Amino acid sequence: MSQERVYNFSAGPSMLPLEVLERAGSEITNYQGSGMSVMEMSHRSKAFLKIFDDTQAKLRKLMKVPENYKILFLQGGASTQFSAVPLNLIGKSGKADYAVTGNFSNLAYKEAQKYGTISLAASSEDKNHTYIPAQDQLKLDPEASYFYYCANNTIYGTEWQYIPETGSVPLVCDMSSDILSRPVDVSRYGVIFAGAQKNMAPAGLTVVIVREDLAGRELPFTPKMLGYQIMIDKDSMYNTPPCWCIYMLGLVLDWLEGQGGVEGMEAIKHRKAQMLYDVIDSSKHFTCAAEKGSRSDMNVTFRSDSEELDAKFVSEAAAAGFTNLKGHRSVGGMRASIYNAMPAEGVEKLCGFLRAFDQKN
Ligand code: PMP
Repeated sequence: MSQERVYNFSAGPSMLPLEVLERAGSEITNYQGSGMSVMEMSHRSKAFLKIFDDTQAKLRKLMKVPENYKILFLQGGASTQFSAVPLNLIGKSGKADYAVTGNFSNLAYKEAQKYGTISLAASSEDKNHTYIPAQDQLKLDPEASYFYYCANNTIYGTEWQYIPETGSVPLVCDMSSDILSRPVDVSRYGVIFAGAQKNMAPAGLTVVIVREDLAGRELPFTPKMLGYQIMIDKDSMYNTPPCWCIYMLGLVLDWLEGQGGVEGMEAIKHRKAQMLYDVIDSSKHFTCAAEKGSRSDMNVTFRSDSEELDAKFVSEAAAAGFTNLKGHRSVGGMRASIYNAMPAEGVEKLCGFLRAFDQKN
């Protein structure tokens, strides 16, 4: 890592692999002899269409996306999918089940209520979202058009360690903050979506993976831009797609392949998270916010025994080159977001800093 870069523990947008940034930098004014930047290319040009197709194919290969699923590269962020999901899918029965395990699933749950009868299949609000409900705690409606959950709760630092079993009810999952960090059996899902700005690319791209037979049943007043079928028919190019971000995703996927793909990344990310959790668990001042068994490997939430010590930790850490460790206001304390691009060395050094801080204070 070059001297002036910090270890950035931001929840997103967050670190990108250095070699990806360097490669993008080397091509920024003249992409492979085209005489122009990818940012300046027509999305209909041959050069860009190759980038687009290659990126889609790489994602399909790495995530083992089955043929009957379409991969869409859209704009609007993950939040736009909070509306698009019910608009496209709720028509089947007018009902849907939602598991609320944090801030973003709660926002999705509230948004969906505009479009149908939404049931709270599970909630972890009783313990400030410090845990993930177990399968036998899910209240499932066999007539629901879909079951919705968020795989990793970015703010609270919890992560589903199992795929909910919902029979024939399609699963819809917000994977914004843990996509590509572990293998996922895509065939278990109806729709997977993710904002790119954590594990995939710069902000501005939303990846949606949709089982083909679920598209084409949108409510009649669905805005054209939110319809899955139109975006499938136009291969994400009903309008201008987020070209630069798609190119960057392609570079990130090349890097990920070099890490052993999602299988390789699973081992790497788990080792990094375990190292940090072990140091927190064995410290005298720090405790984890999330319950064991529900802890996220992407966002590690923890606190000391006082708010003053938390503030001191965050400020001394920043001075030592570990930035963005302040926790979200709804949890307090600290949060270390250690997505795929955070080098193991960054986590090792943070662990050393944490241990020294714990002993000194
Ligand atoms: N879902 C999750 C799990 C998130 O972490 C975020 C943003 N941090 C969102 C949804 C919202 O994403 P966007 O800002 O792309 O709309």
